[in-house]
Parts: sequence; C-alpha cells; structure tokens
Amino acid sequence: MTMLKGSCLCRKVQIEVPDDFEYMGNCHCSECRKFTGADYSSVGGLSSDKFRFTAGEEFVAVYRKSEDTELAFCQCCGSSLFSRKLKTHKHNIRLGILDSPPTHAPSFHIFVASKAPWNDIADGLPQFAQGPVKQK
Ligand SMILES: [Zn+2]
Ligand SMILES: [Zn+2]
Repeated sequence: MTMLKGSCLCRKVQIEVPDDFEYMGNCHCSECRKFTGADYSSVGGLSSDKFRFTAGEEFVAVYRKSEDTELAFCQCCGSSLFSRKLKTHKHNIRLGILDSPPTHAPSFHIFVASKAPWNDIADGLPQFAQGPVKQK
C-alpha cells in the first residue's frame, strides 16, 4: 500500500496515511469554513487506526467541537489537520495538508445548504444539502 505523507505549514507536524481513503468529499458546513478559513474543506476519511504521526505530535492541539468530534491543528502555525470522530473511530484528513497526491479525488459535496454564498460549485459531482453521506 502506498503511503501518503502530509504536514502542516511550519512542517513540525508530519503525518502518514495509506492511499486508501474510504471516502473523499468536500464539506461546505459553516464550521469547516470557519475552522479552515476556506470556502469549503476537502477531506478524506479512514479508520483512526490507519492514521499516524511521523513527527511533531506534541505540537498538535485539539479543539473539542462536539461530544463526537475533535478538530486538530498545529499550535505553531495554526494549520487545520484533521477532524477525529470519536464514536465511529474515523479520521477525516484535510486534503490540503497532503504532500503526496492521493490516487482518488473528492467525489461529492455535503452541507451545500450552508455553502459560502459566493461559491458557485461548477463541477458535476453529487451535492447533498446536509451530510454526511451514508457510506456502504
Ligand atoms: Zn505547524
Ligand atoms: Zn464540515
């Protein structure tokens, strides 16, 4: 299995995941927009046990967004890294931190009902008003 490497802006935090995301999508929810500062967040999800830090775990801070969700970011440079779903044991990796290109690409849009008003989604991917999309 090819491994994908990722890092934060200051590169203190380094991560590795297999090139085997269970799903990849674009989340337009207002919380992802605030946390990332971007129009939407592209993520790839996989089981938490497939995720590992290769350096700098001590620089990672966690914001507990809800009972089920932690948001991780680098304390040095502020890069958002991933969300961690505690009940389903998934890591949703922010694709923007990847240094190696994944084989696949995001295949859907979720929470389109709360997308940024200036953001015209111009691709032909399926759009869902809410989310997440049911997987398998
Ligand atoms: Zn950093
Ligand atoms: Zn979101």
